[in-house]
Amino acid sequence: MELKICHMYPDVLNLYGDRGNVMCMTRRLQWRGIEASVTKLPIGAGKSLSGFDLVFIGGGQDFEQQVLLEDLHRGKDREIISAIEDGVTFLTICGGFQMLGSYYETYDGKRCDFIGALDLCTIGSKTRMIGNYKFQCGPDAGGSVVVGFENHSGKTRLGSGVKPLGTVLAGYGNNGEDKTEGVHYKNVFGTYSHGPLLPKNPELCDFLLKTALERKYGRAELAPLDDKAELFAHDEMCAKL
Ligand code: GLN
Repeated sequence: MELKICHMYPDVLNLYGDRGNVMCMTRRLQWRGIEASVTKLPIGAGKSLSGFDLVFIGGGQDFEQQVLLEDLHRGKDREIISAIEDGVTFLTICGGFQMLGSYYETYDGKRCDFIGALDLCTIGSKTRMIGNYKFQCGPDAGGSVVVGFENHSGKTRLGSGVKPLGTVLAGYGNNGEDKTEGVHYKNVFGTYSHGPLLPKNPELCDFLLKTALERKYGRAELAPLDDKAELFAHDEMCAKL
């Protein structure tokens, strides 16, 4: 078995070590004897997403989100939309999550017209939503309690065409108001959680890998790993929150 992973915009969307999530997915596959390849798709690179099983997009500041717009609308937008509709698994973080929605209006009035792949939009507020936080994934997103770190000014509102990834237990989540966190649509999972999201949430990591493997091979059982260190980190933060 093999998963082909695409790391989209690693050059501009990579805050707080978001790429650690790609390393985590790769290692957890390899430890089980499953092959993994990672292809980077920076600004200007060929746009095709065909053949990929899993696409990762990290987060970025308002500036970087504006920088990539031209490249995004040169064809990557259509590629992303068709991969999503085709059931490819996506993990998108913060700025990358906002990018799948219809637009982001920054707190100082600049508008980023995004791709409208998902029924959501984001409006910047003067107060940044920063800190460690936790949320519980919905039952069809594995149901695990996830600990993460968020830092965003954008307040995201979900439309009726999508579900949240989970419910906020502590912290802000999508907007600090309605307790929703992230988005879940088909096999797309978007979240505000930066940095080492997957290393300290191995259950979520395995859920994503299983989703991608099952789409490709019909069935996939992931052998258990020794997650003592990962779960220690997870439980410590969970207790603090
Ligand atoms: N620039 C966006 C915001 O502030 C996204 C931030 C991020 O990716 N951390 O909402």
